[in-house]
Amino acid sequence: MDHFEYRNGEMYAENVSISAIADDVGTPFYCYSTATLVRHYKVFTDALAGLPALVCYSVKANSNIAVIRTLAEQGAGVDVVSSGELTRALRAGVAPDRIVFSGVGKTGGEISHALKSGILQINVESEPELAMVNLVAGELNCIAPVAIRVNPDIDALTHDKISTGRKENKFGIEWTRVHEVVTEARELANVDITGLAMHIGSQLTDLEPFRDAFQRLRDVVAILSADGLIIQRLDLGGGLGIPYDGGIAPSPEDYGRLVREYFADLECELLFEPGRLIAGNAGILVTKVIYVKEGASRKFVIVDAAMNDLMRPALYGATHQIVPATEPSGDAALTDADVVGPVCETGDTFATGLALPPLNAGDYLIIRTAGAYGAVMASAYNSRALVPEVMVSGDAFQIIRHRMDIDAFLELEQIPDWLGGNAGEPKEAT
Ligand SMILES: *Cc1c(COP(=O)(O)O)cnc(C)c1O
Repeated sequence: MDHFEYRNGEMYAENVSISAIADDVGTPFYCYSTATLVRHYKVFTDALAGLPALVCYSVKANSNIAVIRTLAEQGAGVDVVSSGELTRALRAGVAPDRIVFSGVGKTGGEISHALKSGILQINVESEPELAMVNLVAGELNCIAPVAIRVNPDIDALTHDKISTGRKENKFGIEWTRVHEVVTEARELANVDITGLAMHIGSQLTDLEPFRDAFQRLRDVVAILSADGLIIQRLDLGGGLGIPYDGGIAPSPEDYGRLVREYFADLECELLFEPGRLIAGNAGILVTKVIYVKEGASRKFVIVDAAMNDLMRPALYGATHQIVPATEPSGDAALTDADVVGPVCETGDTFATGLALPPLNAGDYLIIRTAGAYGAVMASAYNSRALVPEVMVSGDAFQIIRHRMDIDAFLELEQIPDWLGGNAGEPKEAT
């Protein structure tokens, strides 16, 4: 459920007309609904009611500081995967003791940043990383709270590029070796093993892989506790999928039931790291039709958003529902068309053979379910400026990231002295 719907023939985000925002800020832009973000967070936490759970929103899904602040105000902690995301979370006002740090390649500098900030835990993914955490904590004269990320060798049955829990994936420590690593970690002076962590992939549309992974994690906890190694905290990661274009996804309630089945009896604090589930349906990408082109064999609706703004279709073959901002009349004749962007790649295609009502240049289109892994993955490919992000709350809307200024961007570039120097200023012809 989200708060984007037609009212009197116009698409609204909560109580604000999308066309009105588009007229004001120009297209393309991302638009997020506060009520939807909050709703998704509540549905997820309600599904875990009664469990000793902390929900740490996975910032990489949508890291705008306004989005983070909105969720933090609801009580969410966060999961970060870089120093940059940690900076964002702190800037957004998240309490350090509600922040976990994941990722396979944290540098010494990032570990130092995390320890100095006093975060809840660092999820360690390899033995060299464990050694580095111990070293950095020693230099800072502190004890690092560490969870060992377990690779359960479970296939999440999701897109190959976002499957993270198989033994051939780069993530975590093989579950069969966790006992050995935790035993060794006890010898390290500046590391405290507070728990285990796991995250088997993203956009899981079936609960069975979670079931298998939960069983495996329980097995590891049992192996450890048989040896007197008591685990206080289990981080179960994120990954719960959402329906994109009419697809199906498990409900948070069913997920919550599964969690209870496997972990309610363990006296462990539980962490969760949902990203997509919270932010995905809470955002749309609004774009404008530039041209309608009758090609030799198909019709193209060319829009002003492109693969650099929303990479998911090009990167994962993802399908997003696309609808006009102005509701088509019920008897409008539909014709098949491809919705494409201006970037010079055939991969710059948002939809193929989509049945669309008559469209004209200037019409606004809405690409739905773009709140997660949308704006965060954008690039300036083709020297296209990063697009603005807008947040709606009730009757109000505000720009929460401005459109990139191409001149400011170019100021980062420099013509070397041997070519005349002076960035950006054309050399006078001689
Ligand atoms: C990406 C990621 C998440 C969030 O995944 P979603 O599918 O968006 O819920 C959680 N934890 C870790 C470690 C991640 O890398």
